[in-house]
Amino acid sequence: MDTKVIKEIVDIVGQENIRASIEERKCYSYDARTDGAIPDLVVFPASAGEVSRILILANRQNFPVIPRGSGTGLTGGSIPLSGGVVLSFTRMSRILEIDPKNLIAVVEPGVVTFALQEEVAKYGLMYPPDPASYKYSSIGGNIAECAGGPNSLKYGVTRDYVLGLEVVLPTGEIIRPGVKTMKGVVGYDLARLFVGSEGTLGIVTEITLKLIPLPEARATILALFKEVDDAAEAVSATIAARIVPSTIEFMDKASIRCSEQANPMGIPPEIGGLLLIEVDGDKESIASQAEKVQKIMIEHKAADCRLTQDPQEADKLWLARRTLSQALYNLAPLKIAEDVVVPRSNIPALIHALEGMSKRLGIPILSFGHAGDGNFHVNIMIHDTPDEREKAEKAVKEIFTEALRLGGTLSGEHGIGTSKAPYIDMELSAELIATLKKIKQLFDPNNILNPGKIFV
Ligand SMILES: Cc1cc2nc3c(=O)[nH]c(=O)nc-3n(C[C@H](O)[C@H](O)[C@H](O)COP(=O)(O)OP(=O)(O)OC[C@H]3O[C@@H](n4cnc5c(N)ncnc54)[C@H](O)[C@@H]3O)c2cc1C
Repeated sequence: MDTKVIKEIVDIVGQENIRASIEERKCYSYDARTDGAIPDLVVFPASAGEVSRILILANRQNFPVIPRGSGTGLTGGSIPLSGGVVLSFTRMSRILEIDPKNLIAVVEPGVVTFALQEEVAKYGLMYPPDPASYKYSSIGGNIAECAGGPNSLKYGVTRDYVLGLEVVLPTGEIIRPGVKTMKGVVGYDLARLFVGSEGTLGIVTEITLKLIPLPEARATILALFKEVDDAAEAVSATIAARIVPSTIEFMDKASIRCSEQANPMGIPPEIGGLLLIEVDGDKESIASQAEKVQKIMIEHKAADCRLTQDPQEADKLWLARRTLSQALYNLAPLKIAEDVVVPRSNIPALIHALEGMSKRLGIPILSFGHAGDGNFHVNIMIHDTPDEREKAEKAVKEIFTEALRLGGTLSGEHGIGTSKAPYIDMELSAELIATLKKIKQLFDPNNILNPGKIFV
């Protein structure tokens, strides 16, 4: 990068707030999906004003700018594909306001999701979106990906909690779409357009979030099934019984075995499907809700069904699910994680198709995830050989084809980034893609903000 340009950036943020050594820049070259490319510079802005000046400079000097939260993304969204400046928001990580009367929080983008949840809990409040990465992911990254999580079934996803934003447009203007109130319809709903836009339309520098009261009590149910179809039926039956658990997580047989090897919980080898269900609400209703769920599990031939209201016991029941992502690496060193969604009624069809694919291609394909939403994390585990890479590519295409055939979508919460960009025309029409590209062009005429993402 031209030293004059670096000097101008130093003038904006100060010498102590850039990183230029190769070792430091390498740390910002990848996300949780993959290795990528090394940025020319890493910059830590402290305000929307500084972000704006950097973007104006980027348009003048024609270099890419890539916003980065905690780098836990699973589709390559924060990778600087063609170099340029990575903007990291660790200096913009303050919770600016928690307003218990109006049930809102105002935060900077670098706030870690879990830190916000812990802070609002002190006021008896809850910020529900809980990606499994919540201990590390940032609110800015959650907004950009419209993150969901186990809680989405009852409480919705990030989009449902964004009231207003401060955004720096790629051309440097600072705008404040949205409101601080529970309602607001003045002008187009631009705040929602930025949610899920994967850092390609603007840089979010402040967020006004809706909060809700923290439920008084919670119960956790672990149900083990010999037949995966029974587990899937039990999910539909729970919803049909008009019980809305906060969470219904699923693990298939291969995932259970993998997790058992890493962290044994004593789950017998014949178990073909696991459901982890949480119900929450007021103290009086929680026991009866949990018992209803337990009854449904048993009616659907659960071989074992454990129920607890004790938080420490609940943590033990969550062990298999929480440690699974890491345990997968015992199978092979490379993980390709997709997150397709299908209508709940098509869950068994998807699971059987994935099992068939795994056998036919001869590579492990494990599925687990947010069964209550029909959102499955499908993990293909491979060794770094041309043969296995080719098989994995084939599997990815087949998984997407199957999800679409079953009335689903390519991504429930991980976004498109670079890894799914070659596939979006499987789901979106040419007209729709052209319309999306026009929106990008309108916001970012010089294509300097996070180029190469979403569209190939
Ligand atoms: C083990 C594991 C489990 C996961 N589980 C879930 C899950 O259950 N649900 C789920 O939804 N996701 C999950 N994820 C994916 C990931 O954690 C989420 O996508 C998360 O929202 C990314 O946040 P981040 O701060 O790490 O963002 P990054 O990875 O740094 O960036 C993600 C995107 O956000 C953009 N961005 C970052 N900050 C800004 C900003 N201020 N303004 C504009 N754009 C910005 C980046 O350019 C990039 O495109 C998981 C990841 C891992 C590793």
